[in-house]
Amino acid sequence: MRAVCALMLATLLCAATSDSPAAVGVAPENFDLKVSPATDFYRFANGGWLARNPVPPDRSYYGVDTEVQQRDEVRLQAILESPQVADAPAGGERRKLGDFYAACTDLDGIEASGVAALRPIFAKIAALPAPSGLAALAAAGARLRSPDDGIAPLFAFYSEQDPRDATRVIGSLSQGGTALSSRDYYLASDPASRAVRGAYLRALRATFGLLGDDAASAKREAAAVLEIEMQLARASRSPDALRDPVANTHPMSPTRLAALAPHFDWSAYFAGLGLSPARAARIDVGQPETVAALDRLIVREPLSAWKSYLRWHVVYGRGSALPRRFERVQFDFYRVLEGTRAEPPRGRLCTTATNRVLGFALGHIFVERYFSPAARERARAEVASIKAALRADIETLPWMSPPSRVAALAKLAKLNASKVGYPDRWRDYSALRIERADFLADVLASAQFQFDREVAKIGKPVDRSDWDFPPQTVDASYDPSLNQITIPAGILQAPFFDPDVDDAVNFGGIGAVVGHELTHGFDDEGSQYDGDGNLRAWLAPADAKQFHARIACIVKQADDYGVAPGLHLNGKLVAGEATADLGGTVLALRAFQAAERGKAPQPEIDGYTPLQRFFLGYAASWRTSERPEYERNQVLSDPHPVARYRTDATVSDMDEFYAAFRIGRGTPMYRPPAERCRIW
Ligand SMILES: [Zn+2]
Repeated sequence: MRAVCALMLATLLCAATSDSPAAVGVAPENFDLKVSPATDFYRFANGGWLARNPVPPDRSYYGVDTEVQQRDEVRLQAILESPQVADAPAGGERRKLGDFYAACTDLDGIEASGVAALRPIFAKIAALPAPSGLAALAAAGARLRSPDDGIAPLFAFYSEQDPRDATRVIGSLSQGGTALSSRDYYLASDPASRAVRGAYLRALRATFGLLGDDAASAKREAAAVLEIEMQLARASRSPDALRDPVANTHPMSPTRLAALAPHFDWSAYFAGLGLSPARAARIDVGQPETVAALDRLIVREPLSAWKSYLRWHVVYGRGSALPRRFERVQFDFYRVLEGTRAEPPRGRLCTTATNRVLGFALGHIFVERYFSPAARERARAEVASIKAALRADIETLPWMSPPSRVAALAKLAKLNASKVGYPDRWRDYSALRIERADFLADVLASAQFQFDREVAKIGKPVDRSDWDFPPQTVDASYDPSLNQITIPAGILQAPFFDPDVDDAVNFGGIGAVVGHELTHGFDDEGSQYDGDGNLRAWLAPADAKQFHARIACIVKQADDYGVAPGLHLNGKLVAGEATADLGGTVLALRAFQAAERGKAPQPEIDGYTPLQRFFLGYAASWRTSERPEYERNQVLSDPHPVARYRTDATVSDMDEFYAAFRIGRGTPMYRPPAERCRIW
């Protein structure tokens, strides 16, 4: 039977599928009918799926995005192992894919190469004569780290759009220099943080031992590295304090930077990155006090401690490119940090690694096979329908005065929503050299390629056509400085978007994803940027007051939510994501209702009304099994709240949810109307 594609969302990708089964609604096998939607909607909607899908031993969580990724990983691995890639002409982009993947799977080769590719930088570190030489080596170490690694020696340095002039790109320096993602791991005294710290120290000591140091030296070096990182963590801001763009923007000249940290040779650092004085003339320093603290640390810590620190920062997290004994040490640490019980199969690990390094080359082949230009055009139309719902929402918002409404509509008009599916121009990898014989060298070369690509943007006009992540990514984004959303092909797949499923479910899935990203332009962070991407207040003062009172409602709801004994969400950290969840789901529902207007009412499917199916589709897009260790890491450092909160808090703020499931006063899901949050 042909798919029933009469309705808006299904129409988008349906035309391509002629032999699909009839449109179906929700998937009752994923429900837990023993739980009432009024008690725990997330569990009612997902309990069956959660029971069938515990976290596999080699993962720290398993969610709906993992389901899609798993399916895609099989496809991507097949591409990497195909003759089209493995035997492609030497020097070309496809051959680079094949060689990188082959080098990664060659475990004997990795054993034989050992740490040889790191010897040149180790030799330079060993020869460091005085702390004054630290800057040049920090630059060399930074270049061996891709921005995706999330780790860099001393601090993070990349490029950004000038927050005060969104037409140009400047250097951007922010707090960093620690290998672990949250400062709580260094500073908190609870048992879980202490356990991570202990395991980290063991990994440090074991790694220095494997690099050839005797036991006493390895112990001393491990302690020195941890001490430096603890001092850096102590000087750094909390993750929620980093979300305020105005408080984290301080463009300055190199002279002012030198006054902040006079013991660091900034000229040598910028020269080491290949930045001329003219291109380094304006640097946005996110947290000036952390730079001043680093300067004091440079004076205080002995040279030997810095040498240990630099060595660690080039080797940390590289386990899969190193001999097995290194990889085992790394895994023992990740076991404590994330709760993983087994290492992933090598083929999958290498597919992921290749995808990170040559993602656009792989993605180009992926979309040729699995995502057509026609699908892209249909998806773009769908995104436009959600954007239209946001426009209608702003036009009728009760709390906003006319001048702010005009400004909000002007920002929305400039919001670029055309980056859908895949880019028009593909990334150029011609400068990247990959050798089939040496995986560690390939990892270092690709990190340097990615870092240099980032820094090369400094001093040039902004390229608004550039894509930050490849099209097969199962995610979506909003970039406030570009005022644009990106909805890649990866997330335009079932179950987020399923052409065989009815519209209500799809609007609750991909519709809410698109709405979420659009709402980010107007959340507590995004609303501080104007339509061009400049940090500029455009809400009238009285409206800003209203807006912040409404954000406070979101913050309080999250603060009140207990994730585990002694562990609550941090409202200030998750406020932007929770705002986007709520706004995005409201927009998706409005767009669904607009698409239905004037049509005969849709029937029940499997006993569920269209409105119920919308909310069930939304809940399904959040089904996730998580290990407690992973969840803890997420609560401490991630602005995204846990999945069950994203489901239950969002729907409990929407009046339509109460009507759809007849949620009565006094039930756990019930929130009195006065306590329901609403912003957009
Ligand atoms: Zn988000």
